[in-house]
Amino acid sequence: LVQARNVRKSYGHVEVLKGITLSVKQGEVMCLLGPSGSGKSTFLRCINHLESIDGGRIIVDEELVGYAQRHGRIYEMNAREVSRQRSGIGMVFQRFNLFPHMTALENIMAAPVGVKKVERNAAKTRALELLDRVGLSHVAQHYPAQLSGGQQQRVAIARALAMEPQLLLFDEPTSALDPELVGDVLEVMRQLAADGMTMIVVTHEIGFARSVADTVVFMDGGVVVEAGPPAEVLDDPQNPRTVAFLNSVM
Ligand code: ATP
Ligand code: MG
Repeated sequence: LVQARNVRKSYGHVEVLKGITLSVKQGEVMCLLGPSGSGKSTFLRCINHLESIDGGRIIVDEELVGYAQRHGRIYEMNAREVSRQRSGIGMVFQRFNLFPHMTALENIMAAPVGVKKVERNAAKTRALELLDRVGLSHVAQHYPAQLSGGQQQRVAIARALAMEPQLLLFDEPTSALDPELVGDVLEVMRQLAADGMTMIVVTHEIGFARSVADTVVFMDGGVVVEAGPPAEVLDDPQNPRTVAFLNSVM
């Protein structure tokens, strides 16, 4: 479903992605690990074209991300094309970025009604189903400020699901949470994986990566240092940098 080939990205003179090549099949979960500054967030942001890339290519569902080919030439997509493409890719960030002036229910309905022009009642029915799926039916009418961090993050996941994405990107979804709230969020993600959702998850939760990921990728300094099944990368790492990183987070 996702293929990244030799992806390069620089900020000014600093190259932060130095040729990332990896792929994720439909229904697979990839966990991305790596030290701070290694380029994990930048790479995720490139996948939904929040950042444009300077080299290589990213293909999601057989479409080039951010670019269109016409008459044999490559064009950068216009805003409308980008937003159509992005609506198929859900993203959940470290900091819950719910709309503060909307209830949990309204947050989940906002994009289907506003972007997809889904009829309000249908959007509401679907939003209530999604709230139930993340275990939050009882707080449908609560505002974000009235929810715990873990609850907010689960609403953020439900909101991403409301657009019926074919791919979900998570950028350290639990690292801003109090430890006792992490488990509920990981459990929702685990369930999504079991239901066959394709996901790329930047996380330092090694236990989650070990039990849920099909592939674990260790990035450092803008390159993929090591990639493979959890049993290889986490339990039998070959590269000294992977070993050092795992020792620091476990
Ligand atoms: P962390 O674990 O801390 O979230 P990361 O692996 O997600 O780190 P990135 O946020 O992708 O790392 O950053 C990679 C590098 O790119 C860092 O050196 C960072 O300072 C730099 N960088 C990221 N965003 C920008 C930006 N908008 N402008 C300039 N430099 C940036
Ligand atoms: Mg990051």
